[in-house]
Amino acid sequence: MKYLFLSILLLNFSGVFSQDYISSQLKNINFANIDASIAITPDSGKLKGKVVYRFDVLNQVDSIYLDAQNMKFSEVVINGESIPTNNTGNVLWLKTKLEPSEENEIRLKYSAKPQQAMYFINWDVPQEITASRQVWTQGQGKNSSHWIPVIDNLNEKAVYELSFDFKKGYEVISNGELTSVAVLNDSVSRWDFKMQKPMSSYLLAVAAGKFEKEELKSASGVSMELYLEEDEDSLREPSYRYSQEIFDFLEEEIGVKYPWQNYKQVPVQDFLYAGMENTGITIFSRALLTDEVGFKDRNYVNVNAHELAHQWFGNLVTQEEEKHHWLHEGFGTYYALLAEKEIFGDDYYYWKLYESAERLKELSDSGRGEVLMRKGGSSLTYYQKGAWALHILREKVGDEAFKTAVKNYLELYAYQNVNTDNFIAEVERASGQDLSEFIANWLKQTAFQGTEALNSLKKSEFIRNYLDIAALRESTLEQKAPFLRSALQKPVNDYIGQEVVFQLAGETSTEAFQLYKLAFQSENIFVRQAIALSMDEIPPQLKPEYESLLQDESWLTIEAALTNLWMQFPEENTRYLQETKGLVGFTDKNIRILWLTLNLATPAYEPEKQQKYYKELSGHTAPHRPFGVRKNAFGYLYQINAFSDKNLKNLLEATQHPNSQFRKFSRELLSELMKNPDYRLQFQMLKENLPERERLYLEKKLES
Ligand SMILES: [Zn+2]
Repeated sequence: MKYLFLSILLLNFSGVFSQDYISSQLKNINFANIDASIAITPDSGKLKGKVVYRFDVLNQVDSIYLDAQNMKFSEVVINGESIPTNNTGNVLWLKTKLEPSEENEIRLKYSAKPQQAMYFINWDVPQEITASRQVWTQGQGKNSSHWIPVIDNLNEKAVYELSFDFKKGYEVISNGELTSVAVLNDSVSRWDFKMQKPMSSYLLAVAAGKFEKEELKSASGVSMELYLEEDEDSLREPSYRYSQEIFDFLEEEIGVKYPWQNYKQVPVQDFLYAGMENTGITIFSRALLTDEVGFKDRNYVNVNAHELAHQWFGNLVTQEEEKHHWLHEGFGTYYALLAEKEIFGDDYYYWKLYESAERLKELSDSGRGEVLMRKGGSSLTYYQKGAWALHILREKVGDEAFKTAVKNYLELYAYQNVNTDNFIAEVERASGQDLSEFIANWLKQTAFQGTEALNSLKKSEFIRNYLDIAALRESTLEQKAPFLRSALQKPVNDYIGQEVVFQLAGETSTEAFQLYKLAFQSENIFVRQAIALSMDEIPPQLKPEYESLLQDESWLTIEAALTNLWMQFPEENTRYLQETKGLVGFTDKNIRILWLTLNLATPAYEPEKQQKYYKELSGHTAPHRPFGVRKNAFGYLYQINAFSDKNLKNLLEATQHPNSQFRKFSRELLSELMKNPDYRLQFQMLKENLPERERLYLEKKLES
C-alpha cells in the first residue's frame, strides 16, 4: 500500500510537468556556466564527475530539472544547501523554491556507466593484441546526458569548462582551449579545457586515444589541430589534404570570422556517422582516412568542409526546433560544395548538383517529395534539397545580397537560436526582394522544382555537353558512334567520358571495341575506372588493355579489375595474384582481403601458404578490427563458404555493434547463414558462454 501510494505520487509529479516543464524552465532559468570535472575509467567503461552550474533565476520556480540518463547522484547542493531530489533515471529533479535572482549555484556529484553517447573502443581486448583503444562521444541524436548531467535541449546554451582525468599516456581532446595537463599519479593525467562562448549541450565532446597532432594556423591566425593515431603517418597528408584551404576559403566566403577559440579534427574507430561538428572539435570516421592512391576514389574533403561549415551554421546559430534543420544541413552541404568548387573546379560543383537533382526529382516524381521546412525529414531533403534551395536563392538575389544577408544573419543571432524566418528576413532586407514565391516553391513545396533546377544547371557548358551525350542512351551504337568518339578525344572530361563508357556496356561490335580502346587510351583514371566497373565480359581483343587496369592508381579500379580478370581467365590466375601481391587498398583493406580470398580459391598458387592466408582472412573478423575491415572479411568468407566457429562468434558480436549500418549488415548476413543447416547447428553449439545480449539475439534467431 505504501509503495503504491509512492508510485502514484511519482507518476503525478512527472505527469504534471511532462507537458511543458522543458519550455517553462527555458524561460525561467538561464544557465550561464557549467564546469565539470569527469574521471573516466575506460577499462570498466565507467565515469565519476563533479559539476558546478551557475545560473540566474528569471521567474520564480519550484523546481529545476537536469537530464541525466541512468546516473547515480551522491551530493546535490543549491546555493550551499542540500536539497531533496527525485531521480527518474532520465531526469534529475531538484526540488527547491527560488525567487528571481542572479548567480545561483548547483553543485553535484554523480557516477555513470554510459550505454550510449560515450563509446569505449577495445578496452576489453587483451593487452598483447595491438588495437586502437579509444573513448569518444557522439551527442547529436544520442543525448550528452548519458555522460554529463545537462539540459538536452538545443535552446539551452551555456559556457562550458570541462576537465577530464584519464589514463596516462593517452591524448585527451575536448571543446575549447587546453589550459593545462597535469600528471596526477602514476596512472592518471588531468586535462583542463575552457570555452569562452556559449553552446548547446549536444555539441559537447571528448575523444581520447593514442593520438598525435599536427598544428596549422589559418590565414586569420586560428590554431588548427589535425589528429591521427601514432601509426597512421602515411595517411596524414592525403587524408587532411586542403584542410587549410578549406578553412581559409570558408572564413572568407561566409564573411564572419571562425567563431571559436580553435579547431580540432579527430578520426576515431567505428564512428557512428561520417563526421560530427562538435564545437571546435570535429570527430570523424577513421574509414575516411586515405592514402595517396585512394584519395582519388574517396577522401575526407567533403566531410572536412561540411563539418567545418557547421561551426557557423548549427553551432554559432542553432535551430530552434527540428522543423528548421535545413538551417544546419542545407547550409553545411551547400558551403562544403562551394569549398569543393574552389578546389576541384566548376564541373565538379555542377556535377554534384546535377546528381542530387536527379535523386530529388526521382523522389518527387514518385510522390514522395518532402517539404524542406518540416520535422522528421530524410537526409536527402535536409542536405540536398536544402543545398539546392540556397543555390537557387543565391542566383535569384545575386552574390552580393546573398553574402550580406548570410553575414548579417550570423552576426545578429550569434550564439543564439534561429528559425527559417530569421534567415529569410535578412535575405529580403539585403536584396530588397519579396521572397514569397521562393518560399512557396523551395521551402514549403513537396515537389522538387525540376525545370527551374535544370535551367540553372544548363548555365554550365559542361552540363549542356553532358546532357547531349546522355540523351543518346537509347540510340543505336551506329547512330551515336561519331558523337561518342568525339567525346573520347583527349583531354576527356571525367563525367562525360564515364557516361560514354557506360553506354558501351554490353556492346560487342568492332566499333564498340575501337571506342573502348580510345577510352583505355584516355589516360583519365575515372574513365578507365568506369570500364572496370561496367564491363561484365572482357573480350579477348581487349584483354591486354584491361589487364593494364591493374596498374592504375585507384583502389576501386584494381579491386574490380582483379575480380573480373581472375574470374574470366583462370589460366592466368597465378600471374594476376603475383602482380597484386602486397597491395592493401583502402583502410578497410579491400584489396588485401579480396586477394586473400582469391588466393584461397586458387589452389595452384602458393599451396603451402593457404593455411596462413586463411588465418589472416579469418582474423580480420575479430571485434577489435575496424568495422569496414570486418565487413569485407565477413562478406568474402560468405562467398567462399568458410566460416569457422570463431568467425560465427565474431559475427554474433557484430549484430550488437553500435554502428547501425554494420549492425544491419551483420544481422542480414547471420539470417542468411542460418538457412544453411550446418551453420545453424554450429550456432546452436555456440549458445553457451555468450554475453547476454548476443545470447538472447541468437536464441530469438534460432526460434524463427
Ligand atoms: Zn551535417
